[in-house]
Amino acid sequence: MLDIKWIRQHHEQVQTVADQKGIKLSIAELLKCDDVRRSLLNQSETFRESRNSLSQQIGQMVAQGKHDQIELTKQKVKRINDELLEIEATLSSTEKHYLQLMALVPNVVSPDTPIGRSDADNVELRRIGKLPVTDYELKSHVTLGEWHDMIDLPRGVKAAGTRNYYLKGDGVLLHRAVQQLALDLLLAKGFTPLEVPLMTRSEALYNTGFFPLGEEQTYRLSGENKWLVGTSEVPLVTYYANEIVNVTEPIKLAAASVCFRNEVGSSGKDVQGLYRVHQFSKVEQVILCEADPDVSDNILKDITDNAEELLQLLELPYRVMAVCTGDMSQKTYKQYDIETWMPSRQAYGETHSSSNVHDFQARRSNIRYRDAAGSLKFCHSLNNTAVASPRILIPLIENHQCEDGTIRIPTALRPYLNGRERLYPKN
Ligand code: AMP
Repeated sequence: MLDIKWIRQHHEQVQTVADQKGIKLSIAELLKCDDVRRSLLNQSETFRESRNSLSQQIGQMVAQGKHDQIELTKQKVKRINDELLEIEATLSSTEKHYLQLMALVPNVVSPDTPIGRSDADNVELRRIGKLPVTDYELKSHVTLGEWHDMIDLPRGVKAAGTRNYYLKGDGVLLHRAVQQLALDLLLAKGFTPLEVPLMTRSEALYNTGFFPLGEEQTYRLSGENKWLVGTSEVPLVTYYANEIVNVTEPIKLAAASVCFRNEVGSSGKDVQGLYRVHQFSKVEQVILCEADPDVSDNILKDITDNAEELLQLLELPYRVMAVCTGDMSQKTYKQYDIETWMPSRQAYGETHSSSNVHDFQARRSNIRYRDAAGSLKFCHSLNNTAVASPRILIPLIENHQCEDGTIRIPTALRPYLNGRERLYPKN
């Protein structure tokens, strides 16, 4: 959330970003609503002061026995009270409208963010690793999953509907191995691991920037103000809500959690295999730091490096993209996506998303720190995937498949799979 004074001073810039991010919002309407709200607040204050002064006068009149003036003054007080009631009713509906509009205000974007409409306009920054070159046909993870009896899509649909799956045998072991490798990587870099609540209140989702615009993506528990999180970023940031924190050193948090997503609006998209599913697991990095754009920009690079390191440990070819305005969410100031090569798609597919949201989440969540001069300031917060599975299993098993149907395990992953160097087909 941006500060209304700041929005007023930069209204053209904020309107431009809202348009670029595809958010339907008129900043002119917001500012007008704020004007009306302020004027109503002033009016109600003035009326209250007059009423208080008249009430005092009535007291004096009683003491002085000026009975003829008392009735007249009482009538004045009544008229003021009636008008005050009307003003307060209008103020309350104006406040509500103001808050609804404020909830839609986007974060501005960094000057180096590419302008564009969708992910097609994201800009490639670098490619790392070699694409597989083989003289045999590379099979898809769906086929390999069947051969190895480790991915069962039809039974997933039978149990839970479309975009659901079972992992089995080596599939489960791989799924857990990549997450543990990612978590160990983050622990070695000073992250604190947390096991987090996966059902949070709507306030947590609002404060972290997922509501109101992402509400339709989120599963709600029937009859409760509890929602299944689509990412542990929500409980990780909320951990410090309404607190004053010490960010002399950045606070580095990590969680391995299940994530739930409705995927509304994706119908017909990525329907094959494990790419876009309703439930997946993610090891997430979240960092809180001081509100210094240079500091948070460097941390954005660090958390992106962490993800790249993981992909290099998994020996996977990938590319890093600067995400454009149209592909960014409301809260994001600057974003890199990492896309990993997926032979079955003959394309790079997004596996990691790294964002700096500046103080957008901290303002809404009320997370502050004292700067060197002792003033309270809102922190900057950042997040990135360390690994998301089963999506990462797509490039992992497709890129490391061999002609005989076996799958080579990258060296760094072997300690998490009892030293196994290869997975052998069962079927
Ligand atoms: P996000 O939190 O939306 O930035 O997503 C982070 C990562 O989670 C993505 O790069 C994917 O690897 C993974 N992911 C997101 N949505 C899904 C989904 N519906 N199914 C599988 N993996 C997903």
